[in-house]
Amino acid sequence: QVSREWRAENTVVEIAPGVAFGGRNVAVIAGPCSVESEAQIIASAHAVRDAGAVALRGGAFKPRSSPYSFQGMGKRGLELLAKARDETGLAIVTEAMDEEGANLVAEYADCIQIGARNMQNFSLLKAVGRMDKPVLLKRGMAATIQELLLAAEYVLAEGNTRVILCERGVRGFDPATRNIFDLSAIPLVHKLSHLPIIADPSHGVGLREHVPSMARASIAAGADGLILEVHPNPDRALSDGAQTLHTEQFARLMHELSTIATAI
Ligand code: PEP
Ligand code: MN
Repeated sequence: QVSREWRAENTVVEIAPGVAFGGRNVAVIAGPCSVESEAQIIASAHAVRDAGAVALRGGAFKPRSSPYSFQGMGKRGLELLAKARDETGLAIVTEAMDEEGANLVAEYADCIQIGARNMQNFSLLKAVGRMDKPVLLKRGMAATIQELLLAAEYVLAEGNTRVILCERGVRGFDPATRNIFDLSAIPLVHKLSHLPIIADPSHGVGLREHVPSMARASIAAGADGLILEVHPNPDRALSDGAQTLHTEQFARLMHELSTIATAI
């Protein structure tokens, strides 16, 4: 069902009224890696909205490599995201790590993010496939394009056709960047599938100073949108600070992107 042969025209996934991925526009999701406090998420939301983002990201349930790292605020984080939506009108995108979390996330968010580490968590994919809620499915850190598309197939096969794919880089051999950001995934997915694909150069590159160039490149390659980490004080962020843009950097980037994309 994910293939172009199944459906020739592009699928447009609307996560909230007027917030669509896969149409002629480029839609930008931005915000911190993690929800950390009310002040932090509200300030982030205003900053990214004022710069032109249409959705707010921020993890309440975080898949951290170490069990001793900040794990997210949980339900309280979801409540704060909902508050940020009420204040700014931004749509909310946030990660669920298991089926129970997905049910909770669905109560608060406009779109459920399935992270790279869970791309092949088939029971989770089936669970969100049974929900009436858009899904942002990120490429696994060692997943082929075919495996990404088959993961999406699990969701569609259960009845949920509102899936947005996301390229976020794959594990490479070179520690100079966090991942190898696979720009070619964008035109490849567009050829093979009717589903929208967005790019996450923040996790793709892992270094703040190189995120804008890869964001511009993603749009030039035809990405249907971007997901970017932005924080009012990235050096104090509780997760992924090194790859997180300052709000001013994000605003500058959005201006640059508007000259590449026709509608942003
Ligand atoms: C994130 O978006 O903060 C995240 C954990 O991403 P990924 O699953 O791509 O590593
Ligand atoms: Mn992150």
